[in-house]
Amino acid sequence: MANLLIIGAGGVGSVVAHKCAQAAKQTGVFEKITLAARTMSRCGNVAASVRARTGVTLETARVDADNVAELASLIRSSGAEIVCNVALPYQDLHVMDACLAAGAHYLDTANYEPPDAAKFEYKWQWAYADRFREAGLTALLGSGFDPGVTNVFAAWVMKHKLDEVHVLDIIDCNGGDHGKPFATNFNPEINIREVTARGRYWERGEWVETDPLAFSMDYDFPGGIGRKKCFLLYHEELESLVLHLKGLRRARFWMTFSENYLNHLKVLGNVGMTGIAPVRFQGQDIVPVQFLAALLPDPASLGPLTKGKTCIGNRMAGLKNGGKKCVHIYNVCDHEACYAEVGSQAISYTTGVPAMIGAKLVAEGLWRRPGVWNMEQYDPDPFMDALSVYGLPWQCADVE
Ligand code: NDP
Repeated sequence: MANLLIIGAGGVGSVVAHKCAQAAKQTGVFEKITLAARTMSRCGNVAASVRARTGVTLETARVDADNVAELASLIRSSGAEIVCNVALPYQDLHVMDACLAAGAHYLDTANYEPPDAAKFEYKWQWAYADRFREAGLTALLGSGFDPGVTNVFAAWVMKHKLDEVHVLDIIDCNGGDHGKPFATNFNPEINIREVTARGRYWERGEWVETDPLAFSMDYDFPGGIGRKKCFLLYHEELESLVLHLKGLRRARFWMTFSENYLNHLKVLGNVGMTGIAPVRFQGQDIVPVQFLAALLPDPASLGPLTKGKTCIGNRMAGLKNGGKKCVHIYNVCDHEACYAEVGSQAISYTTGVPAMIGAKLVAEGLWRRPGVWNMEQYDPDPFMDALSVYGLPWQCADVE
């Protein structure tokens, strides 16, 4: 039985809260769950939905996670042993500092990103390894879907399906439609920073840089989704997977985008609306992408509108028993089914379920080891079992 603090009550935080309450009810793994963010009304709305759907009562609290002393004091007063950080990547280091100060385990779903540079890297969080080890605390990095499940998929394939992996392609398809002219399915600022950044992939021991969205391929997705165009992006799990999957020759990440999304993004980029450098406007500094994010639909509001499915997974090619073998391991998730279950669309759902499972495995001691860890560094089997139980069933198919 563990006492859990969830930070962030947005699209993902809401799913984490619902799924942790379900797990608490079914298994008793969480004895107390506190949900905190800066805006109390959002925490209250999520808590009301959780109570209505599961009968579980959450505690709620106001906290600015960038204020380490304030957050450490909340960790102590709530008695939290595990902190699940589903605020924004900017908060990661502050939340890790607060966990060290108050003696709590840590997990998140996105790696640290400095607010003033569109650049995400694990180096800042990996630098906490000694401090977490000495404190006897676990930090689990990237327990969402991608990163997260994609890392666990890779570890499971290496444990059960391949002796050597040579090529890894992580392919993320959102085949859903929300009917809005332009919206992002998770935090708009983080999403646009990621998509407009230069692409990067790993080949023969080196990173190769590309212009943003310069490479694309068509992929035929299972689950009734069909053929979609996917674009090469740099994504954070590549950084840890190329270190931990020995023998890898090429690793790439692909994501589907509709023509409509790309056209909007191009125009917005051309007029400067996706920039992250402050612009002086009527005596105030305004960050264009933050202003744009304020105009766009809240991703949490897309839940009732989104129809269709997501398919996220890994295509991995290598050797088994001396012969060539290629597998596609994936989950297919239905937006409307997610909304019916927890009131959220599938992007928030596919992120929030793995965050709950990560917290559960830390709570149960199955994935608890002092230090800072990426997901593929743990035994994938208990996580894979839990995915099927908690709403993200997966399949692994042999492919050409
Ligand atoms: P939202 O913008 O919907 O929600 C963010 C939440 O964080 C809000 O409740 C916000 O509330 C809270 N927050 C922001 N700043 C602070 C702060 N300083 N202190 C306390 N709370 C804060 O984002 P999403 O739910 O869409 O995304 C959450 C995270 O999940 C992001 O880091 C995103 O990158 C990650 N993600 C990971 C994916 C994966 O597969 N690994 C996929 C999708 C998202 P308030 O402003 O009131 O404080």
